[in-house]
Formats: sequence, C-alpha cells, structure tokens
Amino acid sequence: MKDWTTLLEYYNEISGCQKCDLARSRTNFVFGSGSQNSELIFIGEAPGYNEDIQGKPFVGAAGKLLDGLLNDIGLSREVVFIANVLKCRPPENRDPRKEEMELCKDYLLRQIEIINPRLICTLGRYSTSLLLKTEQPISKLRGNKFIVDGRMVLPIFHPAAALYTASNLQVIKSDFQRIKRILSGEEKEDVSSIPEKESIPLAKVEEKKEGSGQLGLF
Ligand code: URA
Repeated sequence: MKDWTTLLEYYNEISGCQKCDLARSRTNFVFGSGSQNSELIFIGEAPGYNEDIQGKPFVGAAGKLLDGLLNDIGLSREVVFIANVLKCRPPENRDPRKEEMELCKDYLLRQIEIINPRLICTLGRYSTSLLLKTEQPISKLRGNKFIVDGRMVLPIFHPAAALYTASNLQVIKSDFQRIKRILSGEEKEDVSSIPEKESIPLAKVEEKKEGSGQLGLF
C-alpha cells in the first residue's frame, strides 16, 4: 500500500469510493474532520442526514452535544479528530451492516495510523466492537481503557444515547473527565482486558512523542 503521509492526500485518494452500495445514495463522502496532529480521535458510527448533506461528522444534535462535552474539558472539534466507522450515510439512518463495516474498515485504520493519536475514544457499540473485536455490550466496556495494536482505546457511550437519557449524560460527562485525566497524564497504565473469552493483546501504554504542532484540516 502507498505510504500516505497526510490526511489531505488520503482524502483525495479515497473520497470517490465506490466499494459498496452506500456510494450511490450518499450526497457526500464524510471523511472526518479535525486536526491531523491530534492526540485524540473520536470514532462514531456513520453519517446521518445532516452529516451527509454537509460532508462533516457530528453536525446534528449528537454533534452539538459532543461539542459541549469537548468544551467542558477545554477542547474543541478543531483540535481533535472526529471520524466514523462508515464514511457514507446508510439509507434511513439504518444500522451499519457487517459487510459495509468490513469494506470501510481500512480507511479508518489508515486514518488512525496517519494521525497516530495517544487516545482513541470509540463512541457507542459499532466503533467499539470494530476496534476491540468483541461483541460485548458497550454498557460493559465503557469507561475501561484497552490497548489495541499498541494504542489506547477508551469506549464511551455514543452522544446520541445521552441526548434524551439523563443518566447516560452523567456517565458520558464523567467519561470525558477521564479523557482529560488520561491526556494530562494524571491517569496512566491501568488498562483493562476484554471481559470473558474474547481477548486482544495487551501492551504497555506508550507516551506519544512531544512537539507535534496542531494543523487544522477539513
Ligand atoms: N452519529 C454518528 O455516529 N456519526 C455522525 O457523524 C453523526 C451522528
């Protein structure tokens, strides 16, 4: 595979994707948005109506909540990177299908490689099960840190799950405080293992190299 070095190059390469049927119904390929130099990536599920129209992730009601949660911990969407498991909107906002996730997966994995974040925060069950390779429910996994392929992954609830449920909102707010503590170095190597029989290799938490500037993209 070509060694893509920037997200912009990669965007230009993949944004005309025709690998699955979603290409025919989409308005825009929703690559993701934020900073190539971010220490933190959020991964949602798939673009919805607003995201498809605007070509940007999390611009609807769940996105507004995400913006507020980021603001609570002194961050903004410009300094993190936000992406989805699927780059194109499933019709009627139906759930992503296994075969679509399989076909789209390499795009996300390559984005992660290019950005090389310290922390990947999976939002909800689809991105969590994709990265952790488990069918365990998000309610069981959320708030625990895992190391996957040498990278730290923190599953949390999808913001949409917190929109109308006050108890979920409290949980997601406290998980954002976790994110803050992890990024500040206050919280370190207490990684968890995947519950029950499924497992992923656990590795030592690596600190990200210093000195990477922030470059806004998309
Ligand atoms: N929900 C998602 O998972 N992703 C978006 O981009 C918007 C809503």
